[in-house]
Amino acid sequence: MTKAEILQRVQAGLVLAQTLGDPLSRSWRKSIGPALKELEAEGCIKRLKVGEWIGYALPDWQMSPAELLAYILGKCRVDRETGCHVWAGSTNGRQGPLTYIPGGKPKTSVRRRVWEATTGKQLTTSDVLLPRCGDPACVAFDHIAKTKRGQSQKGKKLTWVTRMRQAIGRKQRSHISDDVVRQLRAFEGTNRQAAERFGISKAAVQGIRSGRNRREYAANGIFTQLIERKAA
Ligand SMILES: [Zn+2]
Repeated sequence: MTKAEILQRVQAGLVLAQTLGDPLSRSWRKSIGPALKELEAEGCIKRLKVGEWIGYALPDWQMSPAELLAYILGKCRVDRETGCHVWAGSTNGRQGPLTYIPGGKPKTSVRRRVWEATTGKQLTTSDVLLPRCGDPACVAFDHIAKTKRGQSQKGKKLTWVTRMRQAIGRKQRSHISDDVVRQLRAFEGTNRQAAERFGISKAAVQGIRSGRNRREYAANGIFTQLIERKAA
């Protein structure tokens, strides 16, 4: 098989290496292998992993939505009773089922790819997909619930680590200095007076005074406010 013949095959779509010949054969070593290497070096084709197989495609090639869904389904165990497509590959606690998609990004969320390939729409970073059925490994489109970041957390009890992270984030984003926060806590007037005095909004005053915002944390993660209150 010549370089031109291989390129022609690849131009028609993804080509699995074993369909070009036996990688252990003499003809592979003599002609097919070197031709593939040259085409790759010239930037005419790219080499990619397709599950356990090696494939070749044009540099800008991407799986079609139908191919992608078939590829993903091939890596799932389908539960006929529940309708769940249980992902057999790696799963991350926070991101859920993850996969390498031939021609795609290194590691990507299976559920997000299923949703995009099925609907033809693009998700944004604020979109969160959760399994309606409650199985963290399920990637079935019919079982996906789409919400917005933040909403998925509503009504859930947050751990103190999460609360602490959120408080640190708010503090870093805040334009109100620690000094003002301290003065504000010692201030004896009304919220409106405090807002005028420190040049900040009434909402910000309320948040800080109620202890909802800008809570200080000690190194051990315990609210220092709590300690102060107990000590008082
Ligand atoms: Zn399910």
